[in-house]
Amino acid sequence: MTRDPESEFEFELRACRWAELEWPPAGEPTSDDTAIVVARQLGTKRRRWDTIVLECDPEALRRRANFGLERLDSDLLHVVRNAPAEWAYYRDVLPHPGYPWRYVREAIHRADDRGILETRKNGNRIEIRRKWPYPDWLERIVAIENKPDLDASAARALGSQLEYDVAMGLADEVWVATRQTGDRVEPALFEDLPVEAGILALEPAALTADVAWHPRTLGADEPGTRILDRPDGGTRDSSAAQFESVDPDWKADKRLAIAERAYERGWRSFVETMRPDCRGFELRARDASQAVPYCAAKGRCQTAAECAGSCGEFEPEPPAWRTRGWPIEGGPGKRVQRILEERRRRRRPGVKRASSSR
Ligand code: SF4
Repeated sequence: MTRDPESEFEFELRACRWAELEWPPAGEPTSDDTAIVVARQLGTKRRRWDTIVLECDPEALRRRANFGLERLDSDLLHVVRNAPAEWAYYRDVLPHPGYPWRYVREAIHRADDRGILETRKNGNRIEIRRKWPYPDWLERIVAIENKPDLDASAARALGSQLEYDVAMGLADEVWVATRQTGDRVEPALFEDLPVEAGILALEPAALTADVAWHPRTLGADEPGTRILDRPDGGTRDSSAAQFESVDPDWKADKRLAIAERAYERGWRSFVETMRPDCRGFELRARDASQAVPYCAAKGRCQTAAECAGSCGEFEPEPPAWRTRGWPIEGGPGKRVQRILEERRRRRRPGVKRASSSR
């Protein structure tokens, strides 16, 4: 029998797995023909979302794989999105980037090294030609906040973050995923959350979910409003909230940058910030479809934050482990990383499998 996740982190991993298998929730409109990419802990400098679901055009997503599993940063995107079909001097065809051209040259060389752009010298001029058009693969961004136990104080903290999301409209939809209670009316509905945010009641052990409240589609293509500061609401606080307007072009660039990072990282990348090289680190089968990290020293699923270099119980795995073919439970760190990397690749149509020698 599958057990209930103990921590918010484990709940988050279950929510990611549920989204990967089931998105969209029953009753939500979507095209039949949508591919899904799931990632976690991504966003902007000011706002990081727990889970991100990208709804993608399947054919375009497959063509995105031509550019490799690694993300394209904004400099690379500037080059590959504007590279011409025929050879041309780069300054004649790329729009002025708004920063010195030497950075564009550096991005051209990086793109060439990655094999995603053709370059040649004509005298001392660099000419470029695209290998493939960069596809329009991203359709929608859905942001999900995971709060398994949504009490009033958690709802207050979350409410202002969701108000920020709704005003910005960087995602097309925002949701709160909370643990299903089985009550006739989910308690989360009584909390003070913005009405634009959807509420998903997730049963993490069975990986099933019901929609308790449907979200509204946000104006992702329209100007947004960034909330800079707001009064704390105390009786002595008469200050005004501060806002600034956000340009749709900035939002479009930011959305694509987030999508590129999500494409690269997926949600299994938690292991990159943890210590799979610790003797206590294990990947344990949560059920037939998912393995989650487990700390043998603590006797539970550890959070990504505690499983770090600063952990007082860290003990390096014995060197002998690295030479043997250990099974998934209690195996050495490298093998854990390879397994998760391979699962991530399998979820990116068109991306080549990792070499078995790695
Ligand atoms: S002992 Fe610390 S570093 Fe080692 S697996 Fe557990 S939480 Fe991670």
